[in-house]
Amino acid sequence: MKQKRVHIVTMGCQMNVYDSEQMLRLLAPLDYRPTSQLDKADLILLNTCSIRAKAEHKVYSFLGRLVRMKRLRPDIIIGVGGCVAQQEGYRLVERAPHIDIAFGTFALGRLPSLVEQVKDQKQQVVDVNPRGSSEPLCVKGPVLKVERVTAFVTIMQGCDNFCTYCVVPYVRGREVSRKPEEILEEIRLLVENGVCEITLIGQNVNAYGQKNSHGCDFPALLERVHDIEGLRRIRFTTSHPKDLSDRLIDAFCRLDKLAPHIHLPVQSGSSRVLRRMNRGYTRDLYLKKVARLHEIRPGIAITSDIIVGFPGEERGDFEATLDLVRQVGFDSLFLFKYSDRPNVPAAKFSNKIPETIKAERFSTLLEVQRELTLQKNKALVGTTQEVLVEGPSKKSPNQLTGRTLCNKIINFEDSMARAGQILPVRIVEAFSHSLLGQPVGKGHGAHSGENGGMSYAA
Ligand code: SAM
Ligand code: SF4
Repeated sequence: MKQKRVHIVTMGCQMNVYDSEQMLRLLAPLDYRPTSQLDKADLILLNTCSIRAKAEHKVYSFLGRLVRMKRLRPDIIIGVGGCVAQQEGYRLVERAPHIDIAFGTFALGRLPSLVEQVKDQKQQVVDVNPRGSSEPLCVKGPVLKVERVTAFVTIMQGCDNFCTYCVVPYVRGREVSRKPEEILEEIRLLVENGVCEITLIGQNVNAYGQKNSHGCDFPALLERVHDIEGLRRIRFTTSHPKDLSDRLIDAFCRLDKLAPHIHLPVQSGSSRVLRRMNRGYTRDLYLKKVARLHEIRPGIAITSDIIVGFPGEERGDFEATLDLVRQVGFDSLFLFKYSDRPNVPAAKFSNKIPETIKAERFSTLLEVQRELTLQKNKALVGTTQEVLVEGPSKKSPNQLTGRTLCNKIINFEDSMARAGQILPVRIVEAFSHSLLGQPVGKGHGAHSGENGGMSYAA
């Protein structure tokens, strides 16, 4: 069989990054190999995000660019998967008739048969059906051999929280946890293939195992992951503040491999807005959890998500958010302007905030956080940090890039170091998005990916 090329464009969060790797694993038996060149691909897949209207617009603008390509090369197959496909279904193919496949989040496992169907019947297919009861949550079997030394592993899918602004429970479905044995097996295989840092991912990892009878909750899963030989660092994301238990916080002290960083989205510093968002915690409770994190693991890095301009957010609510940001001193923030999404309760809330005010609040908060991040980074100058080398820096070919335990990006020059080494690096300069360092000693312990690009490992 002639080998074919697939190009995947991934938009959105880590869940989509993981799902794109699943697509490559599923397509490998059909003899599709990944290519980074769009014009060399026989199959183009777009893995989409619908969390904000802006993300959805990006999908249609990318698809617009493919119209001409499809006209010139009608045999090329174009597939759109992920949250926009799940949400839009048939509307997507009506609006972009040059698409061959629209496959929703639950149809990922059926991608190979959808591709075959298009080839055989030369017809568009739309699959936004639920996952079949016998279909696994994630692809089983061999993992992709990756050049990277870090990898994401999904531990659960969906969400039951129904925050009033959020589309995730509608496009990703209800919360389902994977079996611990499956997760552990996948991590072991990744470690055998050179991965030394794992990030366990899910919309609310703290709730892992709560809704099914796997006999293992999240702190227990972390302990089992921690026991995997050869694994050097563990991270997880995202944590919902309401489900952040003392037992989980204590894991930051008990488990050496657990990196001292937590992404703990607060969304707002006003308890009134948090209630309208249906977040299930108050400002005070959030601050108490932050204080306990600092007590258990001094120096822990805390990052967060904040939405500005939620319907009805008054000036006083926004001031409360600014105050909370200063009080916590986040290491960094992902800031979003509230955006109406289809079918979510907040879309029907009155007192929508004008775009100009949203933009003003956004830039005020951005500036406050930029200064805080810079201060935090500057405080590291002169210290030595343990850095996992990830590979060459994108900005300069002479530099390597890696991450500190607190998840800060650091660039440095070292002609001897290789991806997978953990090195002590002295910080010499701080910027708002990264650090500049100098290695201070020889590296210890190496797992390096020798082959370029992704390949399939049996
Ligand atoms: N599950 C995670 C949690 O609860 O924090 C985050 C999920 S979502 C993929 C990532 C972020 O997008 C959210 O934390 C929120 O800040 C932002 N977001 C979600 N819906 C939004 C909306 N309608 N408008 C603006 N930002 C939104
Ligand atoms: Fe969306 Fe809330 Fe679930 Fe996060 S916890 S995915 S914000 S509904």
